[in-house]
Amino acid sequence: MKNKLLSLFGLLAGLSLTTGCSDISDKRAADNPVTAERIINADNEPENWLSNGRTYDEQRFSPLTGINEANVSSLGLAWHFDIDTNRAMEATPLIADGVMYVTAAWSVLYALDATTGKLLWKYDPQVPKSWSTYACCDVPNRGAALWGDKVYVATLDGYLAAVNTQTGKEIWKVDTIDRMAPFTITGAPRVVKGKVIIGNGGAEYGVRGFVSAFDAETGDLIWKTYTVPGNPADGFESDAMRMAADTWSGEWWEMGGGGTAWDSFAYDPELDLLYVGTGNGSPWNREIRSPDGGDNLFLCSILALRPDTGEYVWHYQTTPGDTWDYTSTQHMILADIEFGGEVRKVLMQAPKNGFYYVLDRETGKLISGDAYVPLNWASHIDLETGRPVETEGARYEENYKIIFPSSWGGHNWQPMSYSPQTGLVYVPLIGQSETFASTSWKDFAFFENHLNLGLDHKEISEAVPDESSEHPFITARISAWDPVARKEVFRIESGSGWNAGVLSTAGNLVFQGEASGEFAAYTADTGEQLWSSYANTGIMAPPVTFEVDGEQYVSVVGGWGIHMGVFEGDPIDDSSRDAIGRVLTYKLGGASSPPSASAITRLLPELPEIATTAEQIKVGELLYGARCSWCHGTGVRGTASVPDLRYTSKEIHDMWTAIVLDGAYVPLGMPMFNEVLTEEEAFAIQAYVLDAARELQLPDGPLTD
Ligand code: CA
Repeated sequence: MKNKLLSLFGLLAGLSLTTGCSDISDKRAADNPVTAERIINADNEPENWLSNGRTYDEQRFSPLTGINEANVSSLGLAWHFDIDTNRAMEATPLIADGVMYVTAAWSVLYALDATTGKLLWKYDPQVPKSWSTYACCDVPNRGAALWGDKVYVATLDGYLAAVNTQTGKEIWKVDTIDRMAPFTITGAPRVVKGKVIIGNGGAEYGVRGFVSAFDAETGDLIWKTYTVPGNPADGFESDAMRMAADTWSGEWWEMGGGGTAWDSFAYDPELDLLYVGTGNGSPWNREIRSPDGGDNLFLCSILALRPDTGEYVWHYQTTPGDTWDYTSTQHMILADIEFGGEVRKVLMQAPKNGFYYVLDRETGKLISGDAYVPLNWASHIDLETGRPVETEGARYEENYKIIFPSSWGGHNWQPMSYSPQTGLVYVPLIGQSETFASTSWKDFAFFENHLNLGLDHKEISEAVPDESSEHPFITARISAWDPVARKEVFRIESGSGWNAGVLSTAGNLVFQGEASGEFAAYTADTGEQLWSSYANTGIMAPPVTFEVDGEQYVSVVGGWGIHMGVFEGDPIDDSSRDAIGRVLTYKLGGASSPPSASAITRLLPELPEIATTAEQIKVGELLYGARCSWCHGTGVRGTASVPDLRYTSKEIHDMWTAIVLDGAYVPLGMPMFNEVLTEEEAFAIQAYVLDAARELQLPDGPLTD
């Protein structure tokens, strides 16, 4: 009996759950399937937002003018829908015929009535919390895809699911990854010619990147194209992989190679080219990955593929031989723009490396490449060779080097927007520097399923800034970039450290949220702020706009997760920084308001009497920086999403070894570090955490910030 119950429980636990399912009115999607024609001609139905970037060219510009610069001041909240999570929220909602499809942390998909926010159904793919062990940057999902009568969501644990748009019932679900490897999916699928295109992440952990296409109807795999070569002894999958292998050295395949395509795709139906942005190497440091140098194709590249077969057509590598995590997975925009009297079909990207690229998207040839943020790893892009001219010491081979932009990039996943009306691209940029060091790289040990950056954290912690590394101070802002004049025309300052995605509209408006929770509208031609409202939760996701029954709406997803906490620090003292997931939809005259953010109050715990030495604390600080800070926050300053370890109770401290080394909290998403840390090292981290906790409990609070 007991066994039976257990197996029943196991069966239930493995099922995906659909709940809700109330009446979806018949005017809705059922009799109006999403087709190639509809997405290609998206401008004929600006009331909908059918694909991630609205159109296949991913411009994120809406032709709607109901809300415009003259009336935006009367914009107000129409409805909000709260999602029970405080983890990262980065999704672009899709809108088809009055229904909104929006994804949340843990790859959960919601269908809402787009005019009221009423839940129609919810599809929960039941991602095991333990899979977050492989997620570098929290557990977000950046959106769904629509095709026919189905909506597709890719899950953090590597599955792709097709769900009925009417009922929320799962139609098929396929495994897209090697389950033994630490892959994650956070990106939105795209559907091109009846094929669902999806990539994945995991280059920090040691994987070999690939993109695959599945039959939208059946879920059958149609093609799989790798982005980096495997072991030559196993034979090459294609001529492109053979060519790529010539740019690598050593035994790169042992550590995966990387090159994961975790976010950006675009499609040109006329040229019949699918564009794929690829990521950094695994590990970051090229000396370890490919000891004799080389460009390491196709890391940090834009690939043009045939969507029917996945066949390689051309590539452009933004960062040859990357060693700084300068991914080229950032948003790509396709546009036809006049340069010196000639209209060119271009592809534009502002990848992490700080240069704004304009490529000819037929050939992949570089048209221009210009710095959009202060940068010091390269002096410029040589337009003849199409290659960056690196500065001395930038590869930190002999000595540490303070580099900007940082590994977070001058621009990260937050989508840009291109307005054909103003001719400007609105780039949500960030500005940070980072110390890279690895003189001890020969001692590097690869740890399967853990972060493998190949950096020396001790050397990093002891680095002393010099004049050459002085980073011009900049905070997050929108840079309104003119791709023809190759320069910034104006900027919109946000004042925070992290940034949010952007929308532009034919109403001469640009919309953007920010970390503080402010959601604002600016004029698209000058950047003047015309309106703002508080979401009472931080915002990272890009807004969208749509129309139902002749009335225009603007929607944005709120919530910020670990990712933004890394930049914004301790939200505990600031009630405006509540992290709840929330979909917000605005219309002219909207009179609703979001619930006020609840301040997070935490009681100072009783700390255990454990003796620690200054030396242990110092060792622990380095190990914490390397293994813990990505989730629990720099300097033991946590976020609302993952425990702030300074508040760890005595009971949890007593379980330290069981949790950190033996995996007691793996089901909650806390990795086990038994293969990476010794018992002494785990204790050193505890000593460092206790030191920070004791400092917090001093009568005047922490000594430093
Ligand atoms: Ca990366």
